[in-house]
Amino acid sequence: MRRKSKRIICGDLIIGGDAPISIQSMTNTDTRDVEKTIEQIKNLESVGCQLVRVAVPDSEAAQSIVAIKKHTQIPVAADIHFDYRLAIEAIECGADKIRINPGNIGDSKHVEKIVKKAKERKIPIRIGVNSGSLEKIIINKYGGITAEGLVDSALKHILALEAMDFDDMVVSMKSSSVKMNYEAHKLIADKMQHPLHIGITESGSKNSGKIKSAVGIGALLLEGIGDTLRVSLTGDPLEEIYAAKEILRAAEIRNEGINIISCPTCGRCHVDLESISSKIEERIKGLNKNLTVAIMGCEVNGPGEAREADIGIACGKSKVLLFKNGEIIRTLNEDEAEEALIQEINEF
Ligand code: SF4
Repeated sequence: MRRKSKRIICGDLIIGGDAPISIQSMTNTDTRDVEKTIEQIKNLESVGCQLVRVAVPDSEAAQSIVAIKKHTQIPVAADIHFDYRLAIEAIECGADKIRINPGNIGDSKHVEKIVKKAKERKIPIRIGVNSGSLEKIIINKYGGITAEGLVDSALKHILALEAMDFDDMVVSMKSSSVKMNYEAHKLIADKMQHPLHIGITESGSKNSGKIKSAVGIGALLLEGIGDTLRVSLTGDPLEEIYAAKEILRAAEIRNEGINIISCPTCGRCHVDLESISSKIEERIKGLNKNLTVAIMGCEVNGPGEAREADIGIACGKSKVLLFKNGEIIRTLNEDEAEEALIQEINEF
């Protein structure tokens, strides 16, 4: 069962409460390069990103939010470190949400000024606690960076904002350790009701990062924890959205996106199934259709799986059988399989 959380509004996106778990990403362009940032956000929107964060390291970046908002659709969150004035400027420039770690903003009077401005503009604040920037006092208290320390830090900041009569918060506690991340979320889940933004920080490249994120985010989702998520990967942020969708589908939370079943191949396979499968996966990863596609390597288990799927191929020694809705609809040569499958997927 999903953890009960408060409902907050961020632009036209609802986070928490009964709202579906949303997918976020962060641009890796220089926010001051408005044209490139807008282009990347539009690309993210087109594949299903629902909220995008931009780095705001200076005033020029904060001012760029005005133009970015004009030309994009999804809510824009401003990521601020250290300088409270940038948070205020980003809010004034139209940010739909800001992400701060009150610990590195420092002076509570400065945090109060940010909160006052967020209240005035009715925008939420994400309190983002990160294992890499945990306060020294907390590290000393727990003898290192620990799950308990992450929770202690997050609760301290939550209480501080609540004492300022501010409730419009999303909370994140990220660690690059999957285990610590899991333990911290389990500890905090019933200690407060603010929505949780989940993810594994600095998880790595497209390959290792996806595995860490799938384990870390997937474990939490199966516990009912998480209201919004980001898969953090080094590289193209579009990959984060594809991975997030796959994780939500694997956890049986969302069903849009194509479910590919492909066999591992063995000595019975006489075609280059790895190449067919990876090319097809690459070509369909942005598609939002809810269907299952089977890509199978031989005539032993292949026809059974291909028949069960919406669309499928079963490769034999010299021919490939193409299935749709449980029926064989064509017999193909190996070099025709990719295009024929893509055509059927597009038409389905
Ligand atoms: S479907 Fe055929 S080729 Fe693929 S793993 Fe099973 S037996 Fe081997």
